Amino acid sequence: MSKLADQISTPEEDARPMDRAAFDPSRVEFLHVFDHAPVGMALIDLQGVRYRVNQSLADFLGYTVEELTATTMESTNADPQRLAKSIAMRQRVIDGEIESYTNERAYIRKDGETVWGVVTGSLVRDGDGAPMFFIAHTVDITERKRAEAELLDSEERFRETSEISSDWLWETDAELRFSYLSPSFDVISGMHSSQVLGKTREEFGSGTPDDPRWRRHLEDLKARRPFRDFHYQSPRSDGMPQIVSVSGKPRFDPNGQFIGYRGTCRDITQLVETQMALERARDDAEAANRAKSEFLSSMSHELRTPLNAILGFSQVLEAETNELQGEHQRDYLGHIISAGGHLLELIDQVLELSSIDSDGVRITTADIDPRAVLDDSLAMARTIAKETDVTVNDDTGDGVLPLVHVDPTRLKQVLLNLLSNALKYNRPGGSVDVRCRVVDDQRLRITIADTGEGIPEAMRHAIFEPFNRVGKQLTNIKGSGIGLTICKRLVEQMGGRINFDSTLGEGSRFWIEVPLGGSTEVAGASEDAAPDTLAASEGHWTVLYIEDNAMNAHLMRTVLGALPAVRMLSAEDAETGLRLAQASPPDLILMDIHLPGIDGINAMKILRADPRTERIPVVAVSAAAMQADIDGSMEAGFDAFLTKPINIRETLRVIGDALNKD
Ligand code: ADP
Repeated sequence: MSKLADQISTPEEDARPMDRAAFDPSRVEFLHVFDHAPVGMALIDLQGVRYRVNQSLADFLGYTVEELTATTMESTNADPQRLAKSIAMRQRVIDGEIESYTNERAYIRKDGETVWGVVTGSLVRDGDGAPMFFIAHTVDITERKRAEAELLDSEERFRETSEISSDWLWETDAELRFSYLSPSFDVISGMHSSQVLGKTREEFGSGTPDDPRWRRHLEDLKARRPFRDFHYQSPRSDGMPQIVSVSGKPRFDPNGQFIGYRGTCRDITQLVETQMALERARDDAEAANRAKSEFLSSMSHELRTPLNAILGFSQVLEAETNELQGEHQRDYLGHIISAGGHLLELIDQVLELSSIDSDGVRITTADIDPRAVLDDSLAMARTIAKETDVTVNDDTGDGVLPLVHVDPTRLKQVLLNLLSNALKYNRPGGSVDVRCRVVDDQRLRITIADTGEGIPEAMRHAIFEPFNRVGKQLTNIKGSGIGLTICKRLVEQMGGRINFDSTLGEGSRFWIEVPLGGSTEVAGASEDAAPDTLAASEGHWTVLYIEDNAMNAHLMRTVLGALPAVRMLSAEDAETGLRLAQASPPDLILMDIHLPGIDGINAMKILRADPRTERIPVVAVSAAAMQADIDGSMEAGFDAFLTKPINIRETLRVIGDALNKD
């Protein structure tokens, strides 16, 4: 070793021309090996300065050989602790305690990147054994270090995930014995992993072995098919029932042999209980909703029946009261009819709002041309406006309007409500302007602007609240405060929106936006055919009215009494009515629905099933005015449905239509 040391030169000496006589093949060969070695090599003096480095070391640290020569080990060091260890080990070598040292070191390259090397150093001594310098070689282990760090990272990730997860994980061998259980197993299952490790499910008493679904899953695993979310009930160690959800994935060795499976399990007891509680709550809510609808339906019936008599007889009296009998009486009757009408409107609105809230209103949307709906609404608004001193202006233009996707009846209802508000809350000599424009290429905005006194800022937030008349209850302008609430619900159910702005002293602008239609099909809102009144028909008809309320029967008799061509028979219950109809079939049957004994719907079925009565037109006359009641009756086969309180004109028209049918 000392012989070699004598021959090692410094770079300065190397630069000198080689002395042929001093040529020593062993020195030249060493330098050749040193310079061209595929691992990094350095000669380091006892102070830690590299005084000769090879190309591989320079490449490893990102410098040129010249740049790296004469640098200290500290200059490229990334980890002081490891460097200190190397220095300490070098000292032990110098002290003769150890032959050489090996250490893993982290370096900073010239470009700032950290690289890893394993360095091995040995000491060269002179002939007297005095330490001269170290020869160190460094192997690049950066890739291995990276892989190790990734592995550590992924192990840590797995460990932490399995610790914090609300699932527990396991692995089995080919005989399905548990070979690994994640730490959370003990916490979640209430068992000790030692009770389970090395055992099969059968052996530790899981709830699965007898379950055919579980056996199928095991077959699936062996056929390379993973299974997911298998739910079963498993007893906890504390005896409490536990519902778990299990998933599994099979494992195979490189030869394709089944070597077990990995599984996860989650305690879903709480989830299942919550779901069951939700289902119970939903069932309860549905039952409550049904009870509410039934209550509304019967309340509607109870309120409408007496109102029917009040309004009906008032109309009859009004028709019979001539001028001679006194202006006052006609006035009083007018008040009764108007107040009754208001009461009826109120009942209708409360019922409608409740049924919208309980999803009882059916919205049937289609692509329609809004022109017909607008024209109808404007015409009706102008009729109302005649009684006021307000002008209705149609500023919707003559152009073709785009199709909108709405329920035409509901759109008309909303427009009429907004128009009637714009008229009601206007000023004498004021105006109402209706405009249309497309917004965002997606919606048609219909704006109804009035010249009323406007809505005070502080009250605007409450405009769409039910029963809130925002101060107008103190005026003599009639209203219930529900119209806008219903409008909002209906517009939103049609996928649109409604809002307003208002300037005090100048007026308000209410607008709705409804979705534009997508198809070209136009399902326009059609008006009913003009009524064929009975008075215009010829001949004699018998009408049988099945009605348990004597007052209502009397009212109908009075209404029909004005028509000499019609003879009315009445029956107080369906049984009597059916007997009469079978014995002598009438031309038309008017049928109440809520009857003592057989109800109207069942009576209808009996009529249709009997060849003697199957062809008789039957009109329902009922105070149950919920849409569901009407739909139910129409499905039972009624030809038409009249809602109590009856409107005399409407009643005559429907009866006329039914009698003129064939
Ligand atoms: P109603 O008109 O039956 O009271 P609405 O729900 O239609 O009920 O309207 C609620 C309230 O909003 C009204 O009572 C009124 O105070 C206010 N309002 C509605 N439309 C207008 C309008 N065009 N101008 C001023 N106030 C209005």
